[in-house]
Amino acid sequence: MASPTQQLINWNAPPPDDSGLYVPILSPKARGSVTATIVSEHMIGVNTHFSRNRTEPCIGIDNGCEACKKGQSTRWKGYLGAWHGGFGRYVLAEITAAAARDVGGLLTDPNKSLRGMEIHLCRVGVKPNAPVKCEIRPGRMKSDQVPSAFDERAALCRIWERRKEDAPLVGDDVEEIPT
Ligand SMILES: [Zn+2]
Repeated sequence: MASPTQQLINWNAPPPDDSGLYVPILSPKARGSVTATIVSEHMIGVNTHFSRNRTEPCIGIDNGCEACKKGQSTRWKGYLGAWHGGFGRYVLAEITAAAARDVGGLLTDPNKSLRGMEIHLCRVGVKPNAPVKCEIRPGRMKSDQVPSAFDERAALCRIWERRKEDAPLVGDDVEEIPT
């Protein structure tokens, strides 16, 4: 005789697809650095607002962006999908405008794939919000070992939507592993 619990469980649940995959933002600690292998072909760039201690995407004043209506300035952020071998998981590497300018055309060249290269993020300074420098280095993984790319836009929207619902979210960002 099956127990009541056993009768209630759906034993034929299909495995979920990976569209709900939660991908954290890769963020170095103060004076720390993180390195990950890029899985995206190209960087994506987004205008965001920083309000209530979190990043929100700008949807444009014509679409009713609340932050724009309040006159808040936008901050550009670049994102690359990457694989962090130490964590054994996907991450989103976030790049500031200043860091992207330092790297130069490599990040924005539509004819240059970044996939398989390494991104090295280093926080210069002791404050947790000190500037983050970015370097793109040759990859160490063989090309057939680089994990497949994922949908960075969907992953970012999940972060932003989730933060909207139950902000502030603590412990959201990946802690760095010394490299
Ligand atoms: Zn806006």
